[in-house]
Amino acid sequence: MSAVDFLSLATAGVQGLHPYQPGKPIEELQRELGLSRIVKLASNENPLGSSQKGVAAAAGEIPGIHIYPDDNGFRLRNKLAERHGVAPEQLVLGSGSSDVIDMAARSFLGPGVNAVYSEHAFAMYAIYTQASGAAAKVAPALPADNPQSPHGHDLDALAARVDEKTRVVFIANPNNPTGGWLREAPLKAFIDALPSRVIVVLDEAYTEYVEEEDFPNGLRWLDDYPNLLVTRTFSKIHGLAGLRVGYGVASPELAAVVNRVRAPFNVNSAALAAAEAALDDEAFVQRSRENNRQGLAQLSSGCDELGLAWIPSVGNFLCIDMGRPAGPVFDALLREGVIVRPVANYGLPNHLRVTVGTPEENAFFLRALERVL
Ligand SMILES: *Cc1c(COP(=O)(O)O)cnc(C)c1O
Repeated sequence: MSAVDFLSLATAGVQGLHPYQPGKPIEELQRELGLSRIVKLASNENPLGSSQKGVAAAAGEIPGIHIYPDDNGFRLRNKLAERHGVAPEQLVLGSGSSDVIDMAARSFLGPGVNAVYSEHAFAMYAIYTQASGAAAKVAPALPADNPQSPHGHDLDALAARVDEKTRVVFIANPNNPTGGWLREAPLKAFIDALPSRVIVVLDEAYTEYVEEEDFPNGLRWLDDYPNLLVTRTFSKIHGLAGLRVGYGVASPELAAVVNRVRAPFNVNSAALAAAEAALDDEAFVQRSRENNRQGLAQLSSGCDELGLAWIPSVGNFLCIDMGRPAGPVFDALLREGVIVRPVANYGLPNHLRVTVGTPEENAFFLRALERVL
């Protein structure tokens, strides 16, 4: 049988694709290096675990898993609608919010049109754009020495790249991996100035962590902008990353189009139940936010003591400038039993992104970093 070159049969978009690089799994490293203790601060997971209400609800679904989940996610959809003061038809449920972002890309992007996003933006925007066959128009980020937002999204540069072929603008607020964020007034003015035929995907994966005064809530703008799709996730502050559940909220007209490409039963029954329960676990959210606030302070002052610069962050991670190529530092940290995230593929070759852990995990990382440097 002759070997088939399947890559040559794939669409042009897929041929040019570089797959997303996930963080290194803990067991893999433990096996490779024979380490006893490993601290993983690589994927922005919740160091406090999961909402226990969510875990219990998920477990309660297991005896019934021979049955397909509710394809409409009726209960979660209604609960989210009530929570956010929108109609149930405005919701798009996803297997993680990246599924929703993918659905938006598949609905509006393809050969002959383009998507606009920033340098250092979340990697999935580039992957979904590339897979669709659309062109990517990448706006340079603000310079590292910009006091307002080092390495942050430059809204003027983004606006300047929108043309008549632009179908989607992707913005993460706060952004991953930099941790930078956009204030309410400039972001609203940016969306306001866009032609209404351009879809704005406003990715708010970390919004629950943010405590800044003029940090916007994109959901408040839905009535003004029928072209706005706001995405949220249960993977981060709710601690349900392994179950895969997130959602988008948009005008009923936009949500209806995006829902057309949704795979049947895309959110599993354990995830639906866990998400619903986690929404009621305000105590867990508050504890997670508190741990994060203290952890960011601990990590940033630890970096100050080591003489390392860092990008001010409102997410659950800190992007640290090693002042040298970060690859060897990353490798040396691995040998110390600490997994962080290199971000050279995001155009930040000297930085490492470190997820906020428990106070003890943060201290373990800082001690390892000191030894390594
Ligand atoms: C983690 C993350 C997501 C979502 O992840 P899901 O697990 O798919 O919900 C989306 N956007 C950004 C910027 C993220 O960092």
